[in-house]
Amino acid sequence: MIHLKSPEEIEAIAKAGAIIARLFKVLEPRIKPGVTTQMLDLVVDDYVLSHKGASPAFKGLYGFPGSACISINEEVVHGIPSRERVLAEGDIVSIDIGVKLNGWCADSSFTFPVGEVSSEVAQLLSVTRASLDAAVDAARPGNHVGDIGAAVMGAVEGSGLFIIRDLVGHGLGRDVHEEPQVPNIGKPGYGPVLEPGMVLALEPMLAAGTDRIQTLDDRWTVVTEDRSPSSHYEHTVAVTEDGPKILTWGGFWAAEGVPDGAPVGTTIG
Ligand code: MG
Ligand code: MG
Repeated sequence: MIHLKSPEEIEAIAKAGAIIARLFKVLEPRIKPGVTTQMLDLVVDDYVLSHKGASPAFKGLYGFPGSACISINEEVVHGIPSRERVLAEGDIVSIDIGVKLNGWCADSSFTFPVGEVSSEVAQLLSVTRASLDAAVDAARPGNHVGDIGAAVMGAVEGSGLFIIRDLVGHGLGRDVHEEPQVPNIGKPGYGPVLEPGMVLALEPMLAAGTDRIQTLDDRWTVVTEDRSPSSHYEHTVAVTEDGPKILTWGGFWAAEGVPDGAPVGTTIG
């Protein structure tokens, strides 16, 4: 069953989303060679818990041990923060964060370059971001869930990159995961109709060399089968009469003087 949210409930989710948006700005200058993923996870944990009523929504979710999912290079999602994992020049790192604030969840991910990355990796990042923009734009009343997947496909077409098909976006609200599932592939006009009050986590995941994935022996980390790099951007988005509204970005960044193009984000979450 799809839970529709009132404007007040959407605002409550946006408040959780604003914490994530600001947290990405806190994280950005800390993303550099030599930093461990455990250090980044501690920043996430401290920052979220510094807000009254807020908690990291992924911690303990299905037993996940970290506060954020932090995935390097060929890791698509669900990387476990570790003091053994050290960022190196030229890496990319995806940080996926869920925040629950006063009972309402938001979910967002951003893939950061570590120092200078190759032109191929830079293209992977920019096409994934563009595919998220296209997905958000398709989240309009009267469209169907399939229109979102079709929009992602359209943005990726011709790039030579691959859409990870076995992982999907989702509804969210009181829970991190609610109906409907939102695949990153689709046909216009297929799937559930989008209605005002739906809140969706849209989260395209792309890879350079394959659409096939594996889960490592840690039972969490999802990697590309060919170990080619993968990128993941995610926003929590409300479907409204006025069109899509990004709840993990909104006007909050603009209000704080964050420049255009600054990183904001997107799967336990
Ligand atoms: Mg998600
Ligand atoms: Mg997520």
